[in-house]
Amino acid sequence: MALALSGASAALQDATAVLNDVARTLGATDLKTIQYAGTGFTYSFAQNYRPDAPYPKFNATYARAIDFDRGLSREETARTQAENPPRGGGNQPIYREARAAVVVSPASPWGGGAVALTPHGFVRAAMGASPTIGSRRVGGSTLTMISFMAGQYRVNGYVNAQHLVERIETWTANPILGDTPIVTTFSGYRNFGGVQFPTRIVQEQGGYATLDVAVSEVTPNAAVAIQAPAGGAQPARVEAQPVTDGVWYLAGTPDPNSQLVEFRDYAVLIESSVTEARALVNMAEAKRLVPNKPIRYHVNTHHHGDHAAGLRAYVAEGATIITHEMNRRFYEHDVLRNPHTLAPDLLTGRPKPARFIWVKDTYVLSDGARTLEIYHVDNGHAANLLMSYLPKEKILFVTDIFNDFGEPRPNDPPPGLVSPYYAALGSRIRQLKLDVERIAPSHGRRMVSADMLWRALQGTVQAPVVSAAGSRQ
Ligand SMILES: [Zn+2]
Repeated sequence: MALALSGASAALQDATAVLNDVARTLGATDLKTIQYAGTGFTYSFAQNYRPDAPYPKFNATYARAIDFDRGLSREETARTQAENPPRGGGNQPIYREARAAVVVSPASPWGGGAVALTPHGFVRAAMGASPTIGSRRVGGSTLTMISFMAGQYRVNGYVNAQHLVERIETWTANPILGDTPIVTTFSGYRNFGGVQFPTRIVQEQGGYATLDVAVSEVTPNAAVAIQAPAGGAQPARVEAQPVTDGVWYLAGTPDPNSQLVEFRDYAVLIESSVTEARALVNMAEAKRLVPNKPIRYHVNTHHHGDHAAGLRAYVAEGATIITHEMNRRFYEHDVLRNPHTLAPDLLTGRPKPARFIWVKDTYVLSDGARTLEIYHVDNGHAANLLMSYLPKEKILFVTDIFNDFGEPRPNDPPPGLVSPYYAALGSRIRQLKLDVERIAPSHGRRMVSADMLWRALQGTVQAPVVSAAGSRQ
């Protein structure tokens, strides 16, 4: 026991010595704040065109401010369309520059924006968290690995012979991917006013790039004023709007919404939600509105992060999942098998074999009295997108390629232009000769008249002009 303790304390001394070298080299010791900026690319996490494709890529200008004492970070990005034709989500197609700011505090959910995942933030966090030391081969060289726990999350930082942090890895909880790796690499260190800072930062989450920035400006100890974000996740809430006999639009928060269709012996829920909690309140509401009938089928519209987070809850419920055949490997191999140790969900505690119906083009649920037709829509947003149609009631349930946010949005097409995503929906409706009267868009608050779609399609179908930076890929 004494031997083990002395071994551990010797290792702690070794780790601390390495961190002292790193802090000195980076100029981290007296660094209170930093501001840096550059250009490059951002990518929308879990918004890929196919489950096995990289996330959609955008040209971006990027600026970040960090207050190390308060553990606050503010990242500002301005994105423009990089891919032509547009492929995937992330609010594509982007016709105008889209600006966003993300503020992270120590109370925020653990993720890629955490201050401890930057070189200077890592040294500071590791020093106060009983770091351990090891070594790993990374890309042909042996690096010193300093590890610590940030709460329940492991953080590994890789230090090279020049005492510079080359790579930081951690894992976060994701409702679809489970324990999800976040790997950030730092290269091209240069001296900026006495502080060593990387001129290239690349981050990957879940195996695909989310950020790739060439840093050109760094200001150590800049005067930064970051407002801590207002806390708390949006609670899951559902408010059922009756649509017609046995059909409800399940509005609520967080967005997007689901739809409930009652059959003679069972209920069907469409749309897998952005969180497990939202999926569970939808299911509870379905059981209240359609008592004594099982939720036998669940229609999963596509694999995106805001539309598949409740998928595992539907498996735990025992529903058969109706989804596009393209999702087979991703759902069976990754979503159902990845470990969910960081945030165990319902299925973790209640394992159940999953049942799927893999749709190629069309699938029909019918009990004689009611029919629900499920169709694949070939479009740029997601290669596996399904829409659902009630022919007798003339109601179409559609996700992401037609929305009603009730107000203009910054990335709406300029007047006279039509998004190719919308146009794909119009083409598919015409091709199938569907007599749609009302549309239930998943994003939004309510059912709308089909006229709204046909009005939106008056104009020239055109993707955004890709800016010059996009051509230098
Ligand atoms: Zn989507």
